Amino acid sequence: MPSRTLTRAVTALAATLALGVSLTGTAGATDTSAAPTGDVAAAAVVLTYDASGSAEFASAVAQGAAVWNTSVANVRLEPVAPGRRANIRIVADNGWPRAQTTSLGNGTVWMGRQAVAEGYHTVRIAAHELGHILGLPDIKPGPCSSLMSGSTGGVSCTNIYPNSQERAWVEDDFSTTLAAVR
Ligand SMILES: [Zn+2]
Repeated sequence: MPSRTLTRAVTALAATLALGVSLTGTAGATDTSAAPTGDVAAAAVVLTYDASGSAEFASAVAQGAAVWNTSVANVRLEPVAPGRRANIRIVADNGWPRAQTTSLGNGTVWMGRQAVAEGYHTVRIAAHELGHILGLPDIKPGPCSSLMSGSTGGVSCTNIYPNSQERAWVEDDFSTTLAAVR
């Protein structure tokens, strides 16, 4: 990697340490679910991402974020508002896909074209790298049913979802974070 790129990445990462928390409950909404009166609204840590540098992978990144939003409850990934600083920066380059975290929920994802050229699934790549930002390590070698098995799941692997262990790991990590910011 050119050192200039690394320097810029580190500079950007150093300034993205804030976590946002928002209430995502349904109290007052018009749904007809049977939530008991006085039910406490659920809270999630909201992490914003800036995919403006993800080039042809913007759709894959959005799908990768949606994977996590449908898989876990304690953290949500949302596109950053214009002019705001994101927790997660997502860029495309010609290397191997990778992620670098500065702290739980903060860092940079590189959507590397090398793996895409070899045939790996772009949404699985995005979900996997976001998994690193959410605190998961590589779990290699591993089966396709594991998101964090990454490339060892095989080039034909199109599973984009974390397994139950991976989901529980992220839920636990952000449960702690939620407790800390309350
Ligand atoms: Zn990985």
